[in-house]
Amino acid sequence: MFEQIERVPGDAILGLIEAFKKDTNPQKVDLGVGVYRDSQGNTPIMRAVKEAEARLLKNETTKTYIGSHGAPAYGNVVLPMVLGENSPVLDAGRASATQSPGGTGALRLAADFIATQLPGKDIWVSDPTWPNHLGIFPAAGIKLHKYPYVDADNRLDFDGMLSALKQIPEGDVVLLHACCHNPTGFDLSQDQWKQVLEVVRERNLLPLVDFAYQGFGEGLDEDAYGVRLLAESLDEMIITSSCSKNFGIYCERTGCLIMVAKDNEQMENVRSQIAIVARENYSNPPAHGGSIVSEILSSDDLIPVWRDELTEMRDRINTLRRDFVEALKPYGLDQKYACIAEQRGMFSYTGLTPEQVDRLRDEFGIYMVRSGRANVAGFSHENLPYLAKAFAAVNS
Ligand code: PMP
Repeated sequence: MFEQIERVPGDAILGLIEAFKKDTNPQKVDLGVGVYRDSQGNTPIMRAVKEAEARLLKNETTKTYIGSHGAPAYGNVVLPMVLGENSPVLDAGRASATQSPGGTGALRLAADFIATQLPGKDIWVSDPTWPNHLGIFPAAGIKLHKYPYVDADNRLDFDGMLSALKQIPEGDVVLLHACCHNPTGFDLSQDQWKQVLEVVRERNLLPLVDFAYQGFGEGLDEDAYGVRLLAESLDEMIITSSCSKNFGIYCERTGCLIMVAKDNEQMENVRSQIAIVARENYSNPPAHGGSIVSEILSSDDLIPVWRDELTEMRDRINTLRRDFVEALKPYGLDQKYACIAEQRGMFSYTGLTPEQVDRLRDEFGIYMVRSGRANVAGFSHENLPYLAKAFAAVNS
């Protein structure tokens, strides 16, 4: 039977990693991968995570199943992190948390819930968006459409986005990135979030907000502005949160599906359906990552350690963004690439063409995906002058 199975090409990013490893250029730079890097190019375990793990190892007494919704302690710390400490949504008992295998798992739960409980609804995603969005929803049987997000001059196309949202059939699902838009780095301002809210209201859309980078843009609360605005203003929304980046626990698969309903009664109804969706996918989520997060967020001594380290990561990225644009000044390219300093999060749509990306790889050993998306965490103060020189060369 298997003789008829066709092999498909591997993930482009994996191919890039292989090519980078083989490159013998001593100045090579990897701007492809999707994880945070420190100034040494490492993705270290955060200090608070190490300490939390030590405590867990000492104190844990069982490895039994944690249930389809995951550990209640995890939901109890993630909900206020996402919705705010004094959230009226939480006070009203309108939000439900389900621990999931990463933000990806939460997206798949959301997709299955929409497909089974809200049949006939299509989903609208930004163009471009994180490529996995393009796979997850159709895999669950949901029709996917795109709304514009970036214009031909590599700027946020907010007007285009808003007018497209106004055309979405009433009741459809619209996927929004809470902050640190992947792959572009272009985020909505507070005023723009308010305008999106108005359209969502007018068209009676169901917002699904993907929140994979809380704390990587401007701050834990600042990055949650759009999420909290929608949750507090609307009866219903879906949030998919991830702790992969902000706790640096990528491999522990730690995410959360948050369902916001009109009232506590409807939330419990929705929650009961989510348990079924989770059970049918993987039964129970893995426990360890969630235990780390709840250990940190419920320990007065670990919270500041974690917050400081998250701030360090965020500041490093934002400083490198500014310093890179500075380094382009002598080449007269600072205006052209000014957007890199304005974008937020780990990724930048640089505006480089696929041909320029190829030249950067072939002539300078600088690796990024052909869309021109760079992982800014791959910048360092050591390689900025080299990167600037290479950008200048492929612009001449
Ligand atoms: N959404 C977006 C936009 C992402 O970039 C990512 C991670 N690359 C995720 C969701 C999922 O993250 P994870 O499953 O690793 O928690």
